[in-house]
Amino acid sequence: MPATLPAWPPALTPEQQAELLLEASAYALAHGFTLLPVHPPSGPPPAPTHAIAAPLSLFPTPFPRSEYERARSLQTAYNALYARVALDQEFIDRVIGSVAKVDTFQGELWTRWKGVRAELPQPVQLGIFRSDYLLHASESSFEIKQVEFNTIAASFGALSQKAGEMHRFLAQTTGAFYGAAPELADATAYPDNHSLEELAAGLAQGWKVYGNKDAVVLVVVQEGERNVFDQRGLQYELLSKHGVRSVRYTFAELGRLAQVDPSSKHLLIPNPLTPNAPPSEIAVVYYRAAYTPTDYTSSKEWDTRVLLERSLAIKCPTMALQLAGAKKVQQELALPGVLEDFLLGSSRPDVGLGAGAGSLTQEDVDAVRATWTGLWPMDDSEEGLEAQRLAETHPERFVLKPQREGGGNNIYRTDIPPYLAKLAAEPSNPGDPPKREGYILMELIEPPQGVHNWLVRGGEGKPRLADVVSELGVYGVSLFGGKDAKSIVNRSAGTLLRTKGRESDEGGVAIGISSIDSPLLV
Ligand code: ADP
Ligand code: MG
Ligand code: MG
Repeated sequence: MPATLPAWPPALTPEQQAELLLEASAYALAHGFTLLPVHPPSGPPPAPTHAIAAPLSLFPTPFPRSEYERARSLQTAYNALYARVALDQEFIDRVIGSVAKVDTFQGELWTRWKGVRAELPQPVQLGIFRSDYLLHASESSFEIKQVEFNTIAASFGALSQKAGEMHRFLAQTTGAFYGAAPELADATAYPDNHSLEELAAGLAQGWKVYGNKDAVVLVVVQEGERNVFDQRGLQYELLSKHGVRSVRYTFAELGRLAQVDPSSKHLLIPNPLTPNAPPSEIAVVYYRAAYTPTDYTSSKEWDTRVLLERSLAIKCPTMALQLAGAKKVQQELALPGVLEDFLLGSSRPDVGLGAGAGSLTQEDVDAVRATWTGLWPMDDSEEGLEAQRLAETHPERFVLKPQREGGGNNIYRTDIPPYLAKLAAEPSNPGDPPKREGYILMELIEPPQGVHNWLVRGGEGKPRLADVVSELGVYGVSLFGGKDAKSIVNRSAGTLLRTKGRESDEGGVAIGISSIDSPLLV
């Protein structure tokens, strides 16, 4: 692993930069590397008539080749780990049970799942995962460190493949970016990334295991979603490559339309446009919603979630698999011996790497653990007390995380002590644990300094030269829980690079901070 990254970005003349911006923007618009523009908040969103380029970077960003390969090579072990967590009710009950009292969202998800889990007709679960890493700069090298592991609505698979294709195109059409840097002329520096195709193939594998060629995939979407072309990219690929139809509905629409046949347990959705036609049977429920409290405005949405869960459709993800992705689980996995138990335990189910002991080795366990940074509970255990001490004495080293997804929820550095004080002062029911127990404390990863890139936001005329931090995501596809080997899949499924200005602690593209980038392997 190199101890330094090339000085970045290479210099361009104003004319070169203007052309590069034009080429990048036109490519983005022509290839569906796009978002919907912001629409007025009132009323239902109109049918789109125009799109804006998704936030992009003019250059790919240098990333150490060995660390890129390392992240990819770990994905099947990570898939197996989280699949086995989702299959371990006792573990989920213990870990999520501990935050359920102080986190109403996790509490509701867990309680609702417990209420129906004994009667779920579909044993097979589909995971479309994304394991996210930042580079950590130590004295002599860079190492990937895991930020989090996403088990629900892991997005940008389609746009990420297009970002890589765009940078390759820019290299070709401009003579390796006008010969601005030798690294840009190395064709092997632009990795092949097929995340769009790989994720669509994962949905198609779930559909195939369901086993009805007339059934369709249901994409559950958020009202007012702007990242629709990322989702539709997968849907177009599903239809053109795999012959699988898909439909899109919000929770509110499903609340009116979705039915489960009481005897067959088929999930059925009538098409309001053809009321006389038989309803569509759903093979796979793919959630690009349902991960955040605002997706559940009332108990009606929870009822709908449970209705879908109790159907024969294969869920991506199940409620159990969503719970497995909680940050609390990430922290518990880091306690001594827990990872060995999940990856090497002799009674663990086959989730694509063979059953129990023998399929993975202590070396695999060590390789996974080497990607972790410090993680602590915020409870009254020994580790929890240490965490509270550290958060008070050295807050600048930490981030405090609630059990939330979607970006914008964490508390950083010196904001932590006053935040904890505020939490402690909030009223709570007698006998309930302190509110801090719904959080985990995590050591901050320190990305390499001195990397810059030109970031472009659709709708803005000028790129911005930013001091940047890049987050690498590795996608995984996992089909598990079924009885026969034919219903088991475990594979790595491409990558994502999101690049943000260093001044921002958070990094979501959806929340308007990151650009979709691609790695230039060095
Ligand atoms: P979410 O599920 O909301 O995406 P994350 O755990 O990914 O939550 O945190 C959001 C962002 O915060 C990350 O994309 C990253 O930019 C930053 N972040 C999270 N954990 C760390 C960490 N340990 N060190 C540095 N930055 C972090
Ligand atoms: Mg997340
Ligand atoms: Mg994240």
